[in-house]
Amino acid sequence: MTGPVFRFAPSPNGRLHLGHAFSALLNFELARRAGGRFLLRIEDIDPARSRPEYEQAIREDLAWLGLEWELPVHRQSEHLDFYREALEALADRGLLYPAFLSRREIDERVRRIETSGTPAPHDPDGSPLYPGEERTMPGAKRLALMEEGRPFTWRLDMAKATALAGALDWRELGEGTAGERGTVAARPEMWGDVVLGRRDAPVSYHLAVVLDDAAQGVTDIVRGQDLFHATSVHRLLQVLLGLPAPSYRHHRLILDEDGKKLSKSLASTGLAELRAAGVSVPEIRRRIGIDAALAAIPS
Ligand code: GLU
Repeated sequence: MTGPVFRFAPSPNGRLHLGHAFSALLNFELARRAGGRFLLRIEDIDPARSRPEYEQAIREDLAWLGLEWELPVHRQSEHLDFYREALEALADRGLLYPAFLSRREIDERVRRIETSGTPAPHDPDGSPLYPGEERTMPGAKRLALMEEGRPFTWRLDMAKATALAGALDWRELGEGTAGERGTVAARPEMWGDVVLGRRDAPVSYHLAVVLDDAAQGVTDIVRGQDLFHATSVHRLLQVLLGLPAPSYRHHRLILDEDGKKLSKSLASTGLAELRAAGVSVPEIRRRIGIDAALAAIPS
């Protein structure tokens, strides 16, 4: 029996800031306290947004904070076949369908719904839900469009998937955006027919993250509250794919001095910038309140 397994899973599409420092340190320290393992996973599945120089910078910033992680580091771009197989397995079970509408066409449809007087439903991130009309496209038309080489995404048939999976919940050790904790009911239908695969990035974040967490034996997922609602989709995918359920601890986000979300500009919050300005690691720890956060978590 191995102990708990924690991971920090940044996407190398930018530099790390104080918010990442909080998340990484919380994972690292909780793993250490529990006598468990700490993994670093590089979520570089989207080739358009990932850059090797950011990955290198992530390692430097984390090492500066005093973190140590197991080697080799799991890089998603090296496991694309593994993700693709799972995507195909879901497609073979009739849980996915190809959707050909472009972003612009989807926006137009949503606008049309809204101007007709019915409010269009939105997902927890505030984006309008995909209208879902291609779910019922006749098979022959689908095939013809695919043969024509029309670009498409693979979408999950949410109604079918949730009917198959039944009621879902998860163990929340932290806190959701509305204070949810303990046993939380998953509501993946809030996201509509989510995209699980696309041409440019072979599979979506949602699918890769649940496959990796299971393959790496991650037992404790500690991440920001911005991913709280995504957990509903993750639980659904875990059940559909027969994967174990980890526990979740969603933590508060680090805000800037005015209490607002950290801005994109890293001048006052980027770890490299703070290091260059002579700010010490103990000072970083103080600014993000990591020791107080750890002290508030019972061992
Ligand atoms: N790669 C994701 C991000 O950087 C985090 C994934 C996760 O913790 O589940 O936002």
